[in-house]
Amino acid sequence: MTPARRTLIKGAAALGALSAASPAVIAQPFLFSPTTELMPKGKKRRVLILGGGWGGLAAARHLREDAPDLEVVLLEKNPIFWSCPLSNKWLVDVVDTSFLVHSYTAAAERMGYTFVQTEITDIDRDKKRVHTAQGFVDYDWLVVSAGIRVTYEPWFGNDRAAAAYTQKHFSSAYVPSSEHLALKQKIKGFKGGTFVMTLPPPPHRCPPSPYERACLMADYFQRNKIPAKILILDPKPRIMPIGGGYRMAFDELYHDTITYVSNAGVKELDPYNKVVKTQAGDFKFDDAIFMGHHQAADLVWKMGAIGKTPDGKPSTWAAVHPEFYNLKDDPSVFVIGDSVGAVSPQFGHYPKSGHVANRMGRSVSTYIAQQSKNQAMKPLIIDNLCFMLVNTEPLEAISVKFDYKMGTEGHLLQTVTDDNFRRPALWQEDLQWYAKMVKDFTGS
Ligand SMILES: Cc1cc2nc3c(=O)[nH]c(=O)nc-3n(C[C@H](O)[C@H](O)[C@H](O)COP(=O)(O)OP(=O)(O)OC[C@H]3O[C@@H](n4cnc5c(N)ncnc54)[C@H](O)[C@@H]3O)c2cc1C
Repeated sequence: MTPARRTLIKGAAALGALSAASPAVIAQPFLFSPTTELMPKGKKRRVLILGGGWGGLAAARHLREDAPDLEVVLLEKNPIFWSCPLSNKWLVDVVDTSFLVHSYTAAAERMGYTFVQTEITDIDRDKKRVHTAQGFVDYDWLVVSAGIRVTYEPWFGNDRAAAAYTQKHFSSAYVPSSEHLALKQKIKGFKGGTFVMTLPPPPHRCPPSPYERACLMADYFQRNKIPAKILILDPKPRIMPIGGGYRMAFDELYHDTITYVSNAGVKELDPYNKVVKTQAGDFKFDDAIFMGHHQAADLVWKMGAIGKTPDGKPSTWAAVHPEFYNLKDDPSVFVIGDSVGAVSPQFGHYPKSGHVANRMGRSVSTYIAQQSKNQAMKPLIIDNLCFMLVNTEPLEAISVKFDYKMGTEGHLLQTVTDDNFRRPALWQEDLQWYAKMVKDFTGS
């Protein structure tokens, strides 16, 4: 059997599992209603975690070890975990679906916390209560790791039809959802022409990953002799991070396929006639991935935790303590992961990565354990590491590392180290990094 055929079969099997998944859902919708109590509290104090992504899963797992006296409950709307890290590689069959999907119920059973599959609808911080589609749940501590929301409002205002059309036809697959499946079909079905890819203005989820996606799509089109031109429209003045490594990949591997345009923030988009107007000129396209603006998840807006800009407008990200990630006026409520707003005057936001979300999840687990014992919280320094695949024959990656320390002036300082020289060893390190992360939050 050829490797391609083998990948196809494994992927199909895992997709079957996804659609047929019947997780051990604790709340049965026909027995509960949004106004009843879903899980009465027992004697133990309860930590409620909202969102079973990279941050939430890490918090749930580590809390069981750090604070065994507390009850830990994880609420998540999706029936199965879907990883965005490695998903670009999955789009072009470098890895199969079994790499990305993991069972929530198996992880919860292994680690000893309670998983409930349900849509969270509101957070009432006065009552320390979370409302879900199937009833309310009370908490003593709350950890919100709900990721991001993608909005097209800056382009379309109240024109909901244009936003819905853009999301349907040109979505970015930047949140765990069926958009990934649609994008994979789109890439496989592309017959040629101009394929536009816009980047959101920073800060946004996983800054190096749009360029990785462009490289892997170019690699796929070239290998399959599809006459495609990929046009990257970037609002930033240059590629970052790992700009040198990406520049070399674009020039040396994808010279005829990728065109990179800097300072190309989107001014107007006509999704019906396929024209995008940017600060660097107007472009027609045959197909596209339009990355709308990224903001903190809806739940962070609902709980009233969005910060303010100096001129009093919503910052669109959570205002949290830069080291403890809790709210100033509500220290038992933590927001972690991509929703977190600026933490330092030097570098602004932490990179919005799974690695950082994992580190924050582990940190809040320690902080909650300390609070539960009436101990002072001791700040933990986190780090970040990202590997990006830029070539498939051979499989070669580049990487970037972020280190942090507390500066003498009392704010966090960041050092960024790009590893620009693509090589197979970094792809191997990527696989090892991923396996270690998954083991950390699933236990297998
Ligand atoms: C293409 C791509 C490649 C990437 N590559 C990497 C990489 O190589 N390395 C890396 O470190 N990071 C990478 N990332 C970034 C990484 O995926 C995110 O930074 C990480 O997922 C953030 O974790 P989180 O917990 O904040 O959010 P998520 O992981 O998005 O989790 C949020 C969870 O909350 C749930 N949720 C939200 N609202 C509700 C609600 N109302 N009710 C119930 N559940 C809700 C969602 O369903 C979701 O499961 C990549 C991202 C993309 C898109």
